[in-house]
Amino acid sequence: MRDADFFCRWLLAAAASIEREADRLTELDSAIGDADHGVNMRRGFAAVAEALRSGPPDTPGAVLVLAGRQLISRVGGASGPLYGTLLRAAGKALGEAAEVSDEAVREALAAGVAAVGRLGGAVPGDKTMLDALTPAVAALGEGYGAARAAAQEGALATVPLRARKGRASYLGARSVGHRDPGATSSALLVAALAEVAGA
Ligand code: ADP
Ligand code: MG
Ligand code: MG
Repeated sequence: MRDADFFCRWLLAAAASIEREADRLTELDSAIGDADHGVNMRRGFAAVAEALRSGPPDTPGAVLVLAGRQLISRVGGASGPLYGTLLRAAGKALGEAAEVSDEAVREALAAGVAAVGRLGGAVPGDKTMLDALTPAVAALGEGYGAARAAAQEGALATVPLRARKGRASYLGARSVGHRDPGATSSALLVAALAEVAGA
């Protein structure tokens, strides 16, 4: 079973990973966007880490809802509301239990990913964060390590895709040949989850 501390450790590990990789995320966004993805993610996850450290909630659901709210309110770019929605919807799906099973985690993240799809209107293949998140959630039934591998593969597989959503879609065919920044940050978030799960 996974408690609130597990989810706090996930998000703190994610914040540390985002901090380390922020320049690379911004570099990817400079090729097919507006060169701010690392800046947006760093600001958002620093706010998440600060909020969790100053007042850690006592249920898994409340941890994710708090983190989601921070991302929505602190990040101006498209990724803030999208990642915020992912975490908030997943947190709501976990309800008020003090401990949740890995099966409940999988179902909650699936609900979060579905909410991202509804908010942004993207589907897998559109060269967005969903190209990493969707296969990761699908693989989660086989464990956290399988989810990490699926997210990494999904992010890499965005290179030949043409962007159909978000800023990169303005480039049309010129978006082909570049790795999607959001799919790359999604793979970092899934890798952080696998890390704290010991996978
Ligand atoms: P912005 O594009 O507003 O500058 P960011 O650079 O922080 O925001 O985030 C860009 C990333 O957001 C993209 O690489 C893509 O993965 C993701 N994204 C953009 N639009 C959508 C959408 N409609 N659905 C899902 N993900 C999206
Ligand atoms: Mg951007
Ligand atoms: Mg921007």
